[in-house]
Amino acid sequence: MLFSDFAASKLAVRLPSPIEPFTPSWQGADQVSLFIKRDDLIHPIISGNKWRKLKYALDTMPNDTKHIVSFGGGYSNHLHACGYLCHKLGLQFTAIVRGDYSHSLTPMLKDLHHWNTNVEYVNKLTYKRRNDTDYLTALRTRFAAAYIIPEGGSQRAALKGMAELVEEESSTHFNHFLVPVASGATLAGLAIAITPQQSATGIAVLKGQGYLESLVKTFVGLPTAENNWYINHDYQCGGYAKTNTALQNLCDEMTNEYHVPVEPVYSGKVFLALKTLLARGHFARNSRILVIHTGGLQGLRQV
Ligand SMILES: *Cc1c(COP(=O)(O)O)cnc(C)c1O
Repeated sequence: MLFSDFAASKLAVRLPSPIEPFTPSWQGADQVSLFIKRDDLIHPIISGNKWRKLKYALDTMPNDTKHIVSFGGGYSNHLHACGYLCHKLGLQFTAIVRGDYSHSLTPMLKDLHHWNTNVEYVNKLTYKRRNDTDYLTALRTRFAAAYIIPEGGSQRAALKGMAELVEEESSTHFNHFLVPVASGATLAGLAIAITPQQSATGIAVLKGQGYLESLVKTFVGLPTAENNWYINHDYQCGGYAKTNTALQNLCDEMTNEYHVPVEPVYSGKVFLALKTLLARGHFARNSRILVIHTGGLQGLRQV
């Protein structure tokens, strides 16, 4: 049995995730068919793209792995997912956190402590070295035989997990996919899996014109012959985790009116983009659009 299968059953991961039709009273929405892929419902804690991104990392790691190390910010959905997963599977987890939160733990960090994660706070300069070979070698020496997962769980193994999202659908059903982009692995996984007749739009959630494209290209490897993906940078709202009134209102509308809870860091920006692009008639008439709800609601917690 693959370790990822064992983990999926132990954690009661819910896959395939449901697809719901979405019929908002937004201008232009009646010209297309909209659906939401509810990856936020995959698991109450390991939500959204984080399970898909971690799944094949679990099968890639050596059999005798007892310890996982990874990186993230103080609200990181990825660290939260890893912390819970390791706790449930009896693995030691070390979280290298950017910034010192030791005197003001976020709800995410409180959970990590509760799950016996070894949390290490590092300054920005050290955090910048998170992909440097010498830094990683030093970590491996310090945490003997630890398996190191990059920030966001974004590595080649993540692409295969994301590709499974596409395989859950009949391949001809949708012509367009919409996802948030931070490290790019999620969009890259989709770009690899979709057919030449389909396309994927990534909504940048941080300031990264050019940079995000290069991340996705690196993950994809060879250029996708059909150039079937692109990144829209118009909805990052001032940068990562930055918000504004329009975004906040949209999150409230999604949550209260359409009963699809979204948060402003990732999925809120995707739905804001969707609403605006629909009003502009951006999508071809009768397009069948699948919006991927990548989860992340834990990041909303204030206490
Ligand atoms: C991590 C995360 C993303 C970003 O995915 P990338 O693969 O890093 O682009 C998007 N949405 C949510 C909710 C996330 O937690």
